[in-house]
Amino acid sequence: MLEETAMDASRPGMATQPPTANAAPETSPPKAVVALVLGLLPLILWQAAMWSERIAAQAIRDDGWRRLALYTANLSSELEHYDYLPRILAEDTAIKEVLLDPGDATAVDVANRYLARINTFAGASATYVIMRDGTTLVASNWETERSFIGANLRFRPYFQTAFKGEMGRYFALGTTSLEPGYYLARPVLQDFDTDRKIIGVIVVKVGMNRLEEHWGNGPVQVMVTDDYGVVFITSNKDWKFRTLSRLDDKTREIITTSRQYHNAPLNPLGIETKETMAEGVRIVAFENGARYMMLGAGIPNTDWRLQVLMPYARVGRIVWAAVALAGFAFAVLALVAYSLFQHRQRLRDRLTHQQEIAGTLAAARDELEKRVAERTADLRTAQAELVQAAKLAMLGKLSTGINHELNQPLSAIRSYADNAQAFLDRGRTEEAKGNLASISELTARAGAIVTRLKGFARKSKDDVRAVPIALSVANAITLLGPRFRSEGIEVVSDLGGRDILVCGGAVRLEQVFVNLFANAADAMAGSPVKVLSVTLDESEDEVTIRVADSGPGIDTGVLERLFEPFFTTKEAGEGLGIGLAISYGIVTHFGGTIEAANHHKGGGVFSVRLKKAENGGCGDGS
Ligand code: ADP
Repeated sequence: MLEETAMDASRPGMATQPPTANAAPETSPPKAVVALVLGLLPLILWQAAMWSERIAAQAIRDDGWRRLALYTANLSSELEHYDYLPRILAEDTAIKEVLLDPGDATAVDVANRYLARINTFAGASATYVIMRDGTTLVASNWETERSFIGANLRFRPYFQTAFKGEMGRYFALGTTSLEPGYYLARPVLQDFDTDRKIIGVIVVKVGMNRLEEHWGNGPVQVMVTDDYGVVFITSNKDWKFRTLSRLDDKTREIITTSRQYHNAPLNPLGIETKETMAEGVRIVAFENGARYMMLGAGIPNTDWRLQVLMPYARVGRIVWAAVALAGFAFAVLALVAYSLFQHRQRLRDRLTHQQEIAGTLAAARDELEKRVAERTADLRTAQAELVQAAKLAMLGKLSTGINHELNQPLSAIRSYADNAQAFLDRGRTEEAKGNLASISELTARAGAIVTRLKGFARKSKDDVRAVPIALSVANAITLLGPRFRSEGIEVVSDLGGRDILVCGGAVRLEQVFVNLFANAADAMAGSPVKVLSVTLDESEDEVTIRVADSGPGIDTGVLERLFEPFFTTKEAGEGLGIGLAISYGIVTHFGGTIEAANHHKGGGVFSVRLKKAENGGCGDGS
């Protein structure tokens, strides 16, 4: 019989509701975020510019300070280098003597040659002696065309300072040579005079070309200015004898009188201060647009200032590079962020899509399960009707069978009864008794026939519950015990665990085994060895009971039709052919199977397989 189990429409773990679809997925970042990011860009670029300018300016300033210290030291050492010379010459007896007797031509000549030699040794530009009236008496360049001899230099500030008894230091263009130089002047004192009267002035002129040449290579510029702000030593020829700021007329007159810079126009350089960064550090722009960072420091023992000018244009280039770099980094970051956003959006879209598909699938599955459930219910009804119809059809056949089966005992009963009546009429009570006994026997036989039909006619109910299978089998063995003993049948049973529960009905399972045992006993009727073996095997979810006999076995033709209703090989009156059909119906109704075969020793073997009751229950029946 066909049994179907309705599919469970509400399986756990399966989404039955399609997920609520999200709001339309966005394909680009929110406008507010874009606006914020774009708004940040100028701020970031501005910050990058400020930061890079500060760093670059700092680096330039540090370099500037280093150079300033170096150049100042250069200049100071260059100036001090010749300090000793006027000091020594001022003490020279020959110089003093010639000053005391300027008319001695021989002494002057000797002194001239002497100074020329000293001047060459010292590497100075010129060395000369000036008398009290300012006239040059002796000079190292006495032989040259531009000899200082005879020139009156009393207007020179260095002469005036020395004449006051101090060390005169002065930078100027030579009045005769027009060559720029640093003048060091000292008074020459009369030795034996108690007042130590100044009898003349010794002057050493030192050229500054070496320093200028030394400073002149490279983009960094240097200038040395005097106390009026006139540039007199510089690495840049164009700046020479120009001024830091416009000179007033009075200053101009003083300079002109001293002929310090001869006829130089002393035009201002036109430097404009753009920014003062710190004490002595400013950003300046020249008329031609060139920008420098200007760092200055005073030269010890002088009124001079040394200025280092560091080119500032590269700061602009560094700032532009930093801004470009920041812009590029910003663009790269923005692109990365955008692609990450898009990637996330795509993932989200895919997820939504998958959820939609899952929702659709769940809905389709629900629909399918609903239909299956409906069809199963229909089939159950149809099947029940079919079974009932089949049973009715069988009933027709059965009536014929019963008719045939019961007719014989009934007509025998009638003839026994008729004869008994005749025997009684004739007073032959013993014979009448015998007939009555035969009638009783025949009635019992008819009753047995009817009883066997009972189980077949009953409509099966869904009374499936957990029953101990070993007990049903043992009961069946007990029921047939008297027959086994009277026919000499040995029963070998191994039922194993007696507490195994299967899905079924206890009485109906008993009925199945009684039927199988009775068939086995029938089969072994003519066998010399009569052994009935009953074994029980269990697997994870099934129990199998094997009923084997030592009879002749089952013919192939018989095997095929064994479970057909009313199929029998037995003599009329011996079998109805419904025992196995009923057993089949019962076992399949319980969700089990029944199979027949011949075992290797030749006898028949019937295997009944039943479902184990899971956790002591059989679905809704127990
Ligand atoms: P019945 O016993 O009334 O004939 P069953 O449906 O019980 O009806 O059996 C049908 C037939 O199956 C039997 O007539 C017999 O030929 C065969 N059969 C059943 N059991 C055995 C067995 N153990 N050995 C050989 N044949 C068997």
